[in-house]
Amino acid sequence: MIILKNYPLKRFNSFRLNAYARYFVRVHNVDVIPELIYKINSKLSKFCVLGGGSNIIFRPKYDGWVLRNELLGIKVFKENEDFVWINVGAGENWHNLVRYCIDKNWGGLENLSLIPGSVGAAPIQNIGAYGVELKDVFVSLNAMNMHSGQMEFFDLDECEFGYRDSIFKRTLKNQYIITSVNFKLSKKPKLNIEYGAIKKKIEEKKLDQLNIRILSDIICEIRTGKLPNPDRIGNCGSFFKNAIIPTAKYNYLKTVFKDIPSYPTDDPELTKIPTAWLIQECGWKGKNFGSVGVYKKHALVLINAGNAQNEMVIEFSDRIIDSVLEKFDIEIEREVTIY
Ligand SMILES: Cc1cc2nc3c(=O)[nH]c(=O)nc-3n(C[C@H](O)[C@H](O)[C@H](O)COP(=O)(O)OP(=O)(O)OC[C@H]3O[C@@H](n4cnc5c(N)ncnc54)[C@H](O)[C@@H]3O)c2cc1C
Repeated sequence: MIILKNYPLKRFNSFRLNAYARYFVRVHNVDVIPELIYKINSKLSKFCVLGGGSNIIFRPKYDGWVLRNELLGIKVFKENEDFVWINVGAGENWHNLVRYCIDKNWGGLENLSLIPGSVGAAPIQNIGAYGVELKDVFVSLNAMNMHSGQMEFFDLDECEFGYRDSIFKRTLKNQYIITSVNFKLSKKPKLNIEYGAIKKKIEEKKLDQLNIRILSDIICEIRTGKLPNPDRIGNCGSFFKNAIIPTAKYNYLKTVFKDIPSYPTDDPELTKIPTAWLIQECGWKGKNFGSVGVYKKHALVLINAGNAQNEMVIEFSDRIIDSVLEKFDIEIEREVTIY
């Protein structure tokens, strides 16, 4: 195990912020984790797990251990005529996994094409896009308890998935390193093309046949037209979650803001409001604050417009949160994790 000290994190976070980890370790093998736990505890230190760094904002100095998850492998552990069950190492790249499954004609992940990051981070916030969420294909995961050093197993219910949320963002935050994830995929894929932008693209292209590969390509095309590529413009995708508010409050807001958009949720008492609209209505879209900005094509995305400073990103996001609160009395939440 190689322990690197005062290690630069700029190339390990998609916002491209300058930051340093007091200790940095690449975890290639589950067997080294107990020794790491011992070292972390004996120094009374803290730790965080790093995947692709596409949903993290680092402060300038992380005074603890950054454990870069690089656990690899894709294995079929069960199959029948209709389904295949696979176990995937948490350090595998998410989009590579999607393409691997498409090559095998295993359906289920195609709507989640081109989401940056690692497989192990996907359950943390139950990644979702274009009408599909991780939980729709998730079976279970394996994770090392960072207090006891024991491997534990979490099934679907135990992960308590919600909208960009799981138990690992709440009560079990920073207590586990997810080592692998199990998925159930279909050998007879059913396409999910309900999402408006997908339907529109299919019509535009006048497609008379569709399969998971074509659907994945369509989604990649929509995404590249809408979101900045982190290799060129530092960003974390959606910086904030969409707002979920009581339907009664939405009904009141509708009387004041006639155009306020909304989506139903599984619970009729709650309504989802696109936070991009709230931010845009507060006048932030395309605006910069020093070298941090709100992306001109999508108000939910904050960008590194130059050499953004860590604290400035946090301060700017606080200002946006405050102004939405003031105008709409809605407290929006960050989707990204700050370390
Ligand atoms: C351009 C762009 C577009 C995006 N689009 C979407 C989208 O459509 N939908 C969506 O849901 N998200 C989206 N995201 C956010 C991001 O891609 C996802 O949240 C992704 O799952 C993060 O993966 P990561 O490996 O980069 O995680 P990181 O940023 O490295 O980590 C995120 C969090 O998970 C924890 N973590 C990571 N790995 C592990 C592990 N193995 N065990 C325990 N904890 C772990 C970290 O400590 C941190 O708290 C987008 C981001 C970008 C930059």
